[in-house]
Amino acid sequence: MGKEILLLPNAEVVGKVMANNRNPSSINTFIVKSGQQNILIDTGVGDGGAALSNLKIAGFDPKDINIVIITHMHGDHIGGLIAGGRKVFENAVIYINDKELNYWLNSSAPDASTAGMAKSVQAVYGDKIKTFKWGDAITPEIKALAAPGHTPGHTVFEIESDGEKMLVIADLVHVLKVQLADPNMSVTFDTNPREAADSRKSIFKDVSKNKTRVAGMHIHFPGVGVIQETTGGAYEFSPSVSVR
Ligand SMILES: [Zn+2]
Repeated sequence: MGKEILLLPNAEVVGKVMANNRNPSSINTFIVKSGQQNILIDTGVGDGGAALSNLKIAGFDPKDINIVIITHMHGDHIGGLIAGGRKVFENAVIYINDKELNYWLNSSAPDASTAGMAKSVQAVYGDKIKTFKWGDAITPEIKALAAPGHTPGHTVFEIESDGEKMLVIADLVHVLKVQLADPNMSVTFDTNPREAADSRKSIFKDVSKNKTRVAGMHIHFPGVGVIQETTGGAYEFSPSVSVR
């Protein structure tokens, strides 16, 4: 993702951290195994994307997914729910934040393509869609937390297991290097750029203080690591995946 998606780019920061206007990016989805449950967080773009084939390589059939949790309803997160007009995850319950679902199902939503996709998901999954509120525990170990701005119901998920925590930060960052150096910078597809920056700054502060590992949907492979404050409100990211 390049500098053209940055709103009010800080030229000094961009020049320093974005050599050749390049910032490697990925579209990530994550699986949480909990007892007999396989929980998928986001589904990628769908047709043309690699999420489904990578899921199979990882040893999961779409039928094995019991729960799908959605961070927000942009196409690169919900596109993988449907293929050929049908459910991809036949046995799954789909969890979506109440505000997020209402926003995109409301015909006044400004982005017609996202709204159209949200309506298709609603039509295909029907009562298999369950809404949650910020603060709710979706499973005993996964808690939904507010991170509005990118979209009105944009949600991050705290996962706790064996006394360790990880935060799935969804689309809190798109242009990682720049937004670490200056978390005030939002992007053109943030619904409310100022609110997005506020969410980013408060969550960065928190995960840095608590040394919470983060997983991001658009952080380059492996997409998981630690964010630490350096100086003057700037942060750095170190990839870190624990293998146990
Ligand atoms: Zn996204």
